[in-house]
Parts: sequence; structure tokens; C-alpha cells
Amino acid sequence: MGKISEIIVIKNGIIVTMDKELNWFRDGAVVVQNNKILDVDKTRKILKKYKGDIIIDAKNKAVMPGLINTHMHSGLLRGTGDDLPLYEWLSKYVHPAHKVLKPAEVYAASMLSYSEAIKCGTTCVLDMHRFMDRSADAAGKLGIRAVLAPYVSDQLDYLENFEDNKRLMREKHRSFEDRIHVWCGLHSFRDCSPELLIEAREYARKYKVGLHTHSNESIDDVELAKKMYGKRPLEHLFDYGIVGPNVVLAHCVWLSNTEIEIIRKTNTRVAHCPVANMKLADGIAAIPKLLKKQIKVGLGSDGTVESNSFDLFQVMKFATLLGRVHELGTNAMSADVTLKMATVNGAEVLGLNNEVGSIEVGKKADIILVNLRRLHLTPILYGDYFNVISHLVYATKGSDVDTVIVDGKIVMENRIIKRVDENKVIEKAQENAIELLRRIST
Ligand SMILES: [Zn+2]
Repeated sequence: MGKISEIIVIKNGIIVTMDKELNWFRDGAVVVQNNKILDVDKTRKILKKYKGDIIIDAKNKAVMPGLINTHMHSGLLRGTGDDLPLYEWLSKYVHPAHKVLKPAEVYAASMLSYSEAIKCGTTCVLDMHRFMDRSADAAGKLGIRAVLAPYVSDQLDYLENFEDNKRLMREKHRSFEDRIHVWCGLHSFRDCSPELLIEAREYARKYKVGLHTHSNESIDDVELAKKMYGKRPLEHLFDYGIVGPNVVLAHCVWLSNTEIEIIRKTNTRVAHCPVANMKLADGIAAIPKLLKKQIKVGLGSDGTVESNSFDLFQVMKFATLLGRVHELGTNAMSADVTLKMATVNGAEVLGLNNEVGSIEVGKKADIILVNLRRLHLTPILYGDYFNVISHLVYATKGSDVDTVIVDGKIVMENRIIKRVDENKVIEKAQENAIELLRRIST
């Protein structure tokens, strides 16, 4: 007989389920056993049914699904070259860093980046980096859920090759209690040959995994694709089958109507990164237009060199505001639409919507508690004036997240990361960043 597993009861919370009807209720409780959500109901009913081994009081807290970051890069070089022109910055910092990067630095980068993500309420990330076996180890240690798609190119010898991707798949796919998934990563059509696109597509099909790449990020991207292939980027990717429900395209800022139709018809997924798009002056993605066509869009931070933060609450606010600026109308984006992008729709973008993304019985328990007892989140209103979803999108900061549960395990409690010493993560990242910069500059 196995040991009966612990029951966690989260009680007295404002439950924001993010289910199909976007149901919410106050004085609510969620019961977690093993890695799953066992029950969701009013607190008084739950307390009659379950004793609970661990009780978490969520009074004045929103209890909601963990946020899902559908495009990020672990990194150590936050704050370098922030105000340089794009190509000067890429050639001074980003490419030289890729060239000299060591696996130990990737571990430090992923520990830093995933720790920050957890502290801001993110329970699942899609990360693209080099030496991602070390990212898998970092995610495994911290307890976050991660989909890893390495930077693969057959034109730039300082990125990973497809053999590296296959090895990562063999070693880490479905590791750490299935929290780590490995996908095929393609850096960009710019440096991936048509042969590589075909190889990755066939491999992804054979092993039923996803594919992740950057596309249509800037006008320059579009012009280059026309020059290289006589086509726009997404038309080119379509020719080689890099489309479909298992494909996540980061950015999609500059899309023609034909390209939007390609995305819609093939049910391809989009990772929208509004902060990075603004910072790099890429442009404004037509997200309200994509959403009207039922295209599945998730939210991404992009890397810390592109957006300086893994706080998805910040990304939610910018996504909503930028969508409105694009359409010049407040009805272009609403808080509940954006919150769906960051939770249940993000899960669908990653093909994980049967497992995570909402608080529903039977789903895996990826849950966060957000402390609403804050000056900047007052008043909390119910009934016709219910404003908790508004608060979560327009006013909450990552630092308001109080407790984080991933796969039924408490990975942060009262803002303390449970499995690592946060100060050591900072020290290691600091040391590694300085050492990496020293090598870049010599
Ligand atoms: Zn990116």
C-alpha cells in the first residue's frame, strides 16, 4: 500500500477559475491532491468534506491559474545596450554572448530567469536558449513547468545544431515528473535552411512534439525573406510546413492578410510579446484582428535583453493597452480577454490546455495566490461592480503574488521560493554575468 498523499486546502479565497464561462466566486476553496485539483467549491462546503494536511488561508487573495509565458529566453545580460540601435546591440552583445556562452552560465541564467518568473506568478514557460539540458535541470530544481525549444540553426555555427536538439529530446523530454517538455526549436528562417525546416518538421511530426520559431517580427524580417526567397516570412514557412496546431510563432507583428489566413487555416499558434515589440521598435501586432478570427494567441515576455522583465502582469497590461492603440478603440481588448491569453489560451498555445490553464477539477494544480490587500488594488468590489479581473490586468504587479503551486507542489510560499536560496541564485547570476561580459569584451 502506498502512502496516502497529502491534501492541500486553499480556503477563503476569491476564486478566478478561467473556465469557459469565466466563473468566479468569493469565499471559495480549492483542494489539491497529488498533482491535481480534486475539488473547487465554497469554503464552508469544502471544509465539511476535507480536513486537509496543509491549509492555506487565501483571505483577500485571488486564487487563479498560474500565468503561462509562451515566449521567453533565459538570460544574464539584462540592462546591456538597452538604448542602442537594434543591429548595433545585436552585434555588440547578443551574438557575441551566444558565441562564448558556457553550459554553467545557462544554468545560472535559467535559475535566475525561472526564479523571477515564479516570483511573478508564472507557472509555465516556453524558453529558447542554448545548452538547454541545463535549463531543464534549473526548471527541475525550482519546480516550474517548462517547454524547452533550443536555438537551432544550420547557418550560424555558434547556435545549436539539430543533433543537439535531438539529444536534448532524448535526455530531457518528459523529465522531472513530466514537467519538462522538449520541442524542436528553430532560431529564425533567416538562419535555418529549407532542409533544416523539413528535418525539424518531420521530427516534430514523428515524435508528436511542438515547434517554435520567431517570425515576422520586424519590417526588416519581411524585406529579408522577400530578398532571400521572394516571399514573405510566413509564406516561406508555410511552403516548408512550419505551420499547424503544434507550431508557436513568436511576434507576428507584420502580417499580410494572406499570412493571417495561413495562420487561421492551419491553426498555427502565436506568442505575442508587446513589451519587446515596443522596446525594439518593431511595431504593433494586430492582435485584436487575430483574436476576431479565433486565432490562438498567448503572451510572451521575450528575453530580459528584449523586455527587461519576466513579469507577465506587466505584459498583460501592455498587451491590452497596445491592442487598443492599434484599433483606436477601448473595445479592441478587454481585461478578461487578456487574462485568458495569459492563462487558458496560453495553455492551448502550448498544447497543454487539457492539463493546465484553469482551475477546474481534474486539471493539474498550477495555481497562484495574489494578495489584493494592497493600496494599489483597493477597493475590491463584488456583484455588479466585480473588479478583480480588472485589478489583475491593469493594476497588479508580479510582486503581489504571494504563493505559487506547480504540479500540486508549493514552490513559493509567502514570497519565499522553497527549493533554492534566492540570494544564492542572485549571487551566481551576478558572478556569471560579469564573467560572460568579460569574455565578450576580450
Ligand atoms: Zn525571442
